[in-house]
Amino acid sequence: MISQTRMIVQESLDALLEDSAFLPELDGDARKQAFTSLGAILSTPNHLHKSFLRIALENGSVVRIPAFRVQHNNALGPYKGGIRFHESVNEDEVINLASLMTLKNALHDVPYGGGKGGIVLDPRSYSEKELHLICKKYVQYFSDILGPDKDIPAPDMGSGEREMDWMMAEYKSIRPGQAYKGSFTGKSVINGGSLGRREATGKGVYFTFRYLLHDFLQNQRKFLSNTDNAFAKTALEYDGSPMTIAVQGFGNVGSVAALEAYQCQHMQNKVVAVSDRNVTLHNPDGLDIPALIKFVALNNGDLPTGENQLLDANIKATIMDRNDLLYMDVDVMILAALEDQIHDTNKEKIKARIIVEGANAPVTSEADEYLSDKGVIIIPDILANAGGVIVSYLEWMQGRETQFYSEDQVYKLLLDKMKNTMDTILPAFFGDPHPLRQNCYIHSVMKLSTVLYRQGKLY
Ligand code: GLU
Repeated sequence: MISQTRMIVQESLDALLEDSAFLPELDGDARKQAFTSLGAILSTPNHLHKSFLRIALENGSVVRIPAFRVQHNNALGPYKGGIRFHESVNEDEVINLASLMTLKNALHDVPYGGGKGGIVLDPRSYSEKELHLICKKYVQYFSDILGPDKDIPAPDMGSGEREMDWMMAEYKSIRPGQAYKGSFTGKSVINGGSLGRREATGKGVYFTFRYLLHDFLQNQRKFLSNTDNAFAKTALEYDGSPMTIAVQGFGNVGSVAALEAYQCQHMQNKVVAVSDRNVTLHNPDGLDIPALIKFVALNNGDLPTGENQLLDANIKATIMDRNDLLYMDVDVMILAALEDQIHDTNKEKIKARIIVEGANAPVTSEADEYLSDKGVIIIPDILANAGGVIVSYLEWMQGRETQFYSEDQVYKLLLDKMKNTMDTILPAFFGDPHPLRQNCYIHSVMKLSTVLYRQGKLY
């Protein structure tokens, strides 16, 4: 996984080195040297912080929990990115996720750099009191490197507004009298959070798919018919008929993306399958997504796992193995769970024609290459799942301006930003033979390279 991001960044730099129209003021040896510097800067994080949080558990024992904060690059602004609470968190993963944040923020013109945090734990195994202590300790251990203008964490897998509220409160008590509202984003609205932040990632994920397949194609189709791009051809085959959609993951991202798909007025989609860590639920006539959202809210975040639960909730579905969703014959698959879900050993079984990366890095590089060669459109993570950090930015701005935006204002600003990015990327994508991921990376790398050059960092 780590090599995929680095590899595509390096490929983008190699292409830009050859393109004499890019940074034309750099030539000869100076150009080569500058690109070598760029490769070194973008492939390595600026800082890697690791601590072992000492936590006294309620049963009287004491544990040391490994915790990370990686600060990848801050050329565009303060480091920014979530804190993941998961038992599989490890150093390489956090470094890779931090570098994806640098690229994501650059792609969408969000004035932040890239960072990421992680705590190696299964949050379900700790009491609320213990989790509170873990959050406070995280801020105590890392308080020197965090702050509204330095490094601004947010929720990621396993964390949410409750954790951000606790962390912001701890930050405030460590630094009395200093600005603290912008120290964490993804807080609850009453604590300085933004309306729409919780839904932002899922809404953005569905929007990227809808915009590409519906809005953009509707307006641009006549200009795009002569393309050599296999992916673009898949998109152009779309005739406006309803699409079948499967969503892997029914947490904060997957459930909202599924609901957006279910409610979409523009495309009459059918969400035929959803899955979580326990099951896949399938209904070829379309699942009742609002009823499922209601069910998970009352059942600790889990989808129904038995016939009785389905009957009680009046939901029609067949219960299948959790991995069955991946191999279904659907038009679209939204991956909103963990990374590395489609890999070398299962890539041949994938039947979906369009894959949307709601999670970070759910398709490995081998699988990505194989599926792209087959003409599968993959809407990459840095394009599709940026809604969270975009609304984090709006939250941070509202804190600074002591303003409060309505939900409609937030959604408008969010979707306008994502639309602007796609209007920049998509014409190039339809015009050249590279997959969408490459097009996005090259755009981000161009921006970062220009900024680093102008800041005099490439010597
Ligand atoms: N964790 C989210 C991401 O991976 C959001 C980050 C943020 O809001 O800063 O994009």
